[in-house]
Formats: sequence, structure tokens, C-alpha cells
Amino acid sequence: MQAWRYVGSHQPLERQEIERPRPGPGEVVVQVRAAGVCHSDLHVLEGIAPFPTPMTLGHEGCGTVAEIGPGVTGLEPGQLVALYGPNSEGDCRFCRRGEENLCPAGPAIGLGIDGAYAEFVRCRARSAIPVPDGVEPAAAAVATDAVLTPYHALKGVGRLRAGETAVLIGLGGLGMNAVEIARLLGAYVIAVDLLPEKLEQARAAGAHETIDGRDQATVAALAAREPDVVADFVALEATVQTAQQIVRPGGRVVLVGLGATTGPLLTFRYGAQQIAAQGSFWGTSQELREVLDLIARGAIRPPVHTEPLGAVNDVLDRLRRGEVAGRVALVPEG
Ligand code: NAD
Ligand code: ZN
Repeated sequence: MQAWRYVGSHQPLERQEIERPRPGPGEVVVQVRAAGVCHSDLHVLEGIAPFPTPMTLGHEGCGTVAEIGPGVTGLEPGQLVALYGPNSEGDCRFCRRGEENLCPAGPAIGLGIDGAYAEFVRCRARSAIPVPDGVEPAAAAVATDAVLTPYHALKGVGRLRAGETAVLIGLGGLGMNAVEIARLLGAYVIAVDLLPEKLEQARAAGAHETIDGRDQATVAALAAREPDVVADFVALEATVQTAQQIVRPGGRVVLVGLGATTGPLLTFRYGAQQIAAQGSFWGTSQELREVLDLIARGAIRPPVHTEPLGAVNDVLDRLRRGEVAGRVALVPEG
């Protein structure tokens, strides 16, 4: 089968013909119908962390169950499933306390084991989450991360509540869905990006206000609005600094982006004004079921368009340049 594989940092993905995976005990093999392209793939290519080579990339997968391994119950061949990327084993100390997203067993699909930029992908059967009727494969694919991650970040970690003000920084694949999720939670939404077209898209997605991130004075003035939650989907030094500066006393900063590995800590605001900051990683499989249901009910409409899998390197280049609106989902040809 065809697979697009990571062969080392700062190199394009390589198209390889590899053997179709077979499911082991407790596993399934899924025929890929759509695979979302995440900015984290760019960080992998930048060398953010060591990964095995070669490794098929693609951690936002959706497809039909092709083959079921021994001992697997509750899944039928041909069923449409979304892939829960953390690929947790379900019974470790993290999984048992509801922190399944942090399960050390993994390895994550497309971020440790072969992922969804291929015709077929293998994973634990419990990572294959049934997709409700009416949800397209492309939407289900991006639900697994571009929707799940901001859902966990805002509702779970950020505890964003109705009537609160949320500032969302970075309106790409994740941030654009964050706008809809924050609206759904009943928040007043102020969206920030550097690109005018992203601000326009955010307004169409329901942001109450948008701010041009290049205008430092206007961004700094957001402090007067006393945002309860500032979610940073970029997390470069400058945005992390901004988030801590503008959040209200007692407010919550949620760090989602992986733009920098270290950043500034404005300690005075913590000790004297009790701000909090917490990171947020992916989400739980229960939360994935919830976002799939919300999409099925039309409450979240992830912005996504499809392109052929063979265009993956071009899509990654456009994502790097900020030229992708929402998300691209890749569809294997043939
Ligand atoms: P994306 O490329 O689709 O979007 C990034 C957006 O940020 C773009 O619209 C860009 O214009 C904007 N931006 C860049 N610099 C900015 C700045 N200084 N101020 C304001 N806006 C700025 O990326 P994505 O796929 O949405 O991912 C966003 C980040 O989240 C990436 O770093 C990615 O690796 C990370 N991520 C984290 C998790 C997690 O679980 N924590 C999961 C998925 C992705
Ligand atoms: Zn991702």
C-alpha cells in the first residue's frame, strides 16, 4: 500500500510502498477515508522530539474498519470510525484517573507508530471510535484533534463557563474550532491572529470581536477587558507573555500551542494576582465521542476541505506559510 512517511527532520515526507498492516490481538486495521493535517506535523519535521524513522505521519484519522484482530468485540467490518490518537491502553494509572490523554502506553497514532497518511492504519480496537450518522469522514478526521484538543482545553482544563470572556490566540485548525466551542459554552469570544483573512474567518465562525495580533497596543489593551480565560494556540514567547499579561486577576491561561519549548513566566502576576496557567494536551476518548455528537447535531461545524493524499508535502508547505484556512483532510486516491 501507499504511505507517506517521516524519514528525518527537515526532509519532505517520502512516498513508500509498504506492506498493509495486519491486526494483532486487540487491534483493528482501518482503511483510511480522511486524515487531517496538523501543525504538529510541522513541529515533528522541525525536530521538536525524536521519532522513529521511517514512520507514517498522520494523527487525525478516520476510515472504515477493514480487519478485526483476535479478541475484539463491538466493531463491524465496514463501520466508519474516528481514530483516538493517544491510542491509550485504558487501564493504567493515568487512564484510571480519567487522564487517558496522558496514557504512557501509546504510542500515539502517527506520532510514534505508523499513522493515517496511508491507505490503511493499525491501532488498538479501543482507539476506533464509531462515527455517528451524518458526520462526513473529513469532519470526523479533524474531530480527533483539531476539535477535540480545543474542546478539552476550553471546557476541561480552562473550565470556561457561560458569561465569561475568552481570548483565543491563533486561529488555525485548532483555534477556528475553539471559536465555535467557546460560543457553545456561552462565552464572549475575542479572537486574535496575525493574518486578516483568519480574523475574517473567525468572525464568520462566531467570534464577537477580532484583534489584529500585529497591533501590540490593542492586544495589550485587552487586559482592561479582564478576560477570564486566555487560550494560546500558538505558544511562542510573545504570545505566552501576552496571555499572562492580559488575563484577569484570578484568571486562567491555557497553553495549547507547541511553538516554543520554553517561555517567560510573569511570576508577579501569579503571586500577587493569583493567575493560573496550565498546559492542555489532546483530550479523552469520551470527549472525542462528545465532539462527534456535537458535530452530528450541527452544533460544531469544523472548517475542513479535502485534497488528495499525494498533495501532503504541498499542504504542509502551505500550512507553514499560514495559507490554510481551517484544516485540510487528505484522502487516499483510488
Ligand atoms: P495552524 O497552523 O493551523 O494555525 C496556527 C495559527 O496561528 C495561524 O492562523 C497563524 O496565523 C496563527 N499565528 C501564528 N503566530 C501567531 C501570533 N504570534 N499571534 C497570533 N496568531 C498567530 O496550527 P494548528 O494545527 O491549529 O496548531 C496550533 C498549535 O497547536 C501548533 O503549535 C500545534 O503543534 C499545537 N497543537 C497542540 C496540541 C495539544 O494537544 N496541545 C494538539 C494539536 C496541535
Ligand atoms: Zn495534532
